[in-house]
Amino acid sequence: MTDPTPARVRFAPSPTGRFHIGGARTALYDFLLARQTSGQFILRIEDTDRKRFVPGAEEEIMESLHWLGLEWDEGPDVGGPFGPYRQSERTQIYQQHAELLVERGYAYPCFCSPERLSQVRKQLLKVKQPPRYDRLCRRLAPEEAQARVQAGESHVIRFKTPRDGSTTAVDLLRGPITVQNASLDDYILLKSNGLPVYHLAAIVDDYLMKITHVLRGSEWLPTFPLHVLIYQAMGWDQPIWVHLSVFLNPSGKGKMSKRHAGVKAIYVLDLKQMGYLPEGLLNWISLMGWSFDDHTEFFSIQELIEFYSLQKLNPSPAAVDYKKLDHFNGHHIRDLPTEDLVHRMRPFYETAGLVVDDAQLSQIAPLVQERIRTLEEAVEISGFFFRDTVEPDPAQLIGKNMTPAESAKAIRRAYQVIEALPTMDVEPLETALRFLADEIGLKAGQLFGILRVAVTGQRVSPPLIESMAVIGKVEVLARIERAIALLETQAEVE
Ligand code: GLU
Repeated sequence: MTDPTPARVRFAPSPTGRFHIGGARTALYDFLLARQTSGQFILRIEDTDRKRFVPGAEEEIMESLHWLGLEWDEGPDVGGPFGPYRQSERTQIYQQHAELLVERGYAYPCFCSPERLSQVRKQLLKVKQPPRYDRLCRRLAPEEAQARVQAGESHVIRFKTPRDGSTTAVDLLRGPITVQNASLDDYILLKSNGLPVYHLAAIVDDYLMKITHVLRGSEWLPTFPLHVLIYQAMGWDQPIWVHLSVFLNPSGKGKMSKRHAGVKAIYVLDLKQMGYLPEGLLNWISLMGWSFDDHTEFFSIQELIEFYSLQKLNPSPAAVDYKKLDHFNGHHIRDLPTEDLVHRMRPFYETAGLVVDDAQLSQIAPLVQERIRTLEEAVEISGFFFRDTVEPDPAQLIGKNMTPAESAKAIRRAYQVIEALPTMDVEPLETALRFLADEIGLKAGQLFGILRVAVTGQRVSPPLIESMAVIGKVEVLARIERAIALLETQAEVE
């Protein structure tokens, strides 16, 4: 347990692109903290940057969170006592707070044109200084500035960062971080179009929405002291700050990017399409920055809620390891009741264009459950059940250390044995085929190998005898007959 008092935590994504595993991890950690403390998990859409706005991104965020089962208690769609929860609908609130800061002398209007600012930046770079605002407008008399604002002159609102002293910002994982105020810029809070930047909007909202813990990416560490300064200027109590570790590429070198070799997919809905379960994905990302102890690796969402703790978060970067994702996903697939597995597998067969029914899938699910790591793999290894014909590779039909003619002869005998059996019950079928192998001087593996390719079209498949039982006698015999023909053609060529 982290903290027994109910936490109010927000996940605050910007709808600027597709929803990836980094966002999912932040949302998960928020969700766990809220559920564990019987608090609230809030979804807030930070869409004030209209230039970077991507239509459909908010919908993708919500769809992904729903799929993962990370349901929010307050948000743009479900409402709540502190709404609206979409920042573009809160512009006035930010403007009022910016004005308040100006009135109290903690912020000021800046009328500098973009051309002038770029000039200043260039000059500073030339003399190897950090490219900051030179604070020209900070020196304007407040009355003059006010008059220019009243006259409608275009301006932004900047924070009046103290020039002396230092600011200490405390991150739960890293401890106190102290910076000299002289190294900080007079950051823009409100843009000339009246819209806030992140620094103002996020802080005002976190305060008004009574957020107790801010969990966010460590890319916000450089401006963290500014955020603390704004809290101080407002006279507000700060939340607990937690900056989460970054994700590294699978190689462990460099920040995660989808262009890097070995990166399968970073978007949640793509991973869904690849056949990962929400349970597998959540287990995987839960451990990218958190651990329970040094060996426990499988967690259900209920266990995560129980065991999660902020104190065990790790600020060091975590390399994304897709092998682990397969490992976790395979585990959670094996954990599913058959009916549930059937229900989850079904769309994957349908996407592959196969006509399936639940009764048949219920027979197949137990055969593939131990073998697959993704739902997609279920289709790969068991699609043959649903195809009218299989197309075995003739070369693969040849038994180990055997000729095509010998292989044909062996499965011709198998054909007869199967044909003569009254049923396709697994045990008698297996006994009969093993007996046959013995009788014709083959290892069971040799005979079963040919039959496997003949019946499934694949070298690797679910258990052969069980598969034959599901496919049924007529179809099994038809497939063997076709395999015999393919082998005989090869025998003639020889
Ligand atoms: N909108 C910010 C982002 O997407 C949120 C950061 C935060 O959680 O405060 O990076």
